[in-house]
Amino acid sequence: MALPARMTIKQAGIPTAIVGVVAAGGLYVAYSSFQPSKKAFGGGLTGSLKLQNAEDVNHNTKRLRFSFPRPEDETGLTYVSSVLTASWPKGSITPVFRPYTPVSNLDAPGFVDLLVKKYPEGKASTHLHSLQPGDSLFFAFPIKAYTWEPNRYEHITLIAGGAGITPLYQLIQGILKNPTDRTKMTLVFGVNTENDILLRDEFESYQKQFPDRFKVVYTVSSNSIEKTSTEFRNGRVTKELLKELLPSTSGNDTKVFLCGPPAMEDALTGKGRGESGILGELGYRKDQVFKF
Ligand SMILES: Cc1cc2nc3c(=O)[nH]c(=O)nc-3n(C[C@H](O)[C@H](O)[C@H](O)COP(=O)(O)OP(=O)(O)OC[C@H]3O[C@@H](n4cnc5c(N)ncnc54)[C@H](O)[C@@H]3O)c2cc1C
Repeated sequence: MALPARMTIKQAGIPTAIVGVVAAGGLYVAYSSFQPSKKAFGGGLTGSLKLQNAEDVNHNTKRLRFSFPRPEDETGLTYVSSVLTASWPKGSITPVFRPYTPVSNLDAPGFVDLLVKKYPEGKASTHLHSLQPGDSLFFAFPIKAYTWEPNRYEHITLIAGGAGITPLYQLIQGILKNPTDRTKMTLVFGVNTENDILLRDEFESYQKQFPDRFKVVYTVSSNSIEKTSTEFRNGRVTKELLKELLPSTSGNDTKVFLCGPPAMEDALTGKGRGESGILGELGYRKDQVFKF
């Protein structure tokens, strides 16, 4: 996911306000416990949430469930949003702020789930993976990444690389659970190995439930899949693959949503200002591509 480079602590306005944010968060928690609000993240600053459960989903990723102090509360988030977390890794005096994208149903009462990939030297992700049920994590505030407008596009393409799947999954979930939204979707999910495919059961179930509206194609780059199929391919997300899968760009009824590691995003959208990348070569204008 190229996002860490973009979403710096400085951009979030944190360096001058670390102490203020944390103190205000504490005050807000005390204040909000007297409020009738049903939105855990709806009031801006949030506070500490307890880890209820941690589940290994593969060799480097955990699904962490944090419970709200009031079980009737919902997240209060809208599609597509992340939450800025603050952790104090072992031996660190200053907190490390990192955003994560909830993967649970945003309207589910009582909890929020994060899918966190651990990077070997990653400060926040290593800390999050070390949390045990009952431990707390500080949630600073929500971040709105994109405001989805139902039926704005006839079809959208979602291109994910690795842990970059989380904002795209949140969007897919939001579209498919809205009975009035008829948007069709193709998800192209690039992973290193088959074992790195996250949320596979969820995508398979969506394909069965919405065969005319949701299609997924996985492409595996490191080890090759012996029996490729319409659903499983070998290699990276290439121009040839996208040419086959993406609809024509004519008109304004399609858009691409992208979230992956920097190298993947650069290849697809170009590195510098003048470069258009693979999507540009396929006729997609810059305003037809949204990078999380
Ligand atoms: C809006 C937004 C939403 C996000 N949602 C999620 C999410 O739902 N789940 C999730 O797991 N992550 C998500 N991330 C990424 C997350 O915020 C952290 O950047 C990530 O967990 C790494 O932080 P760290 O402190 O562990 O690593 P750092 O200490 O920052 O980095 C340690 C090492 O890991 C490498 N590294 C760090 N991040 C990446 C990366 N993304 N890709 C490749 N190498 C990397 C660095 O180059 C460095 O070598 C999101 C990021 C943004 C901006």
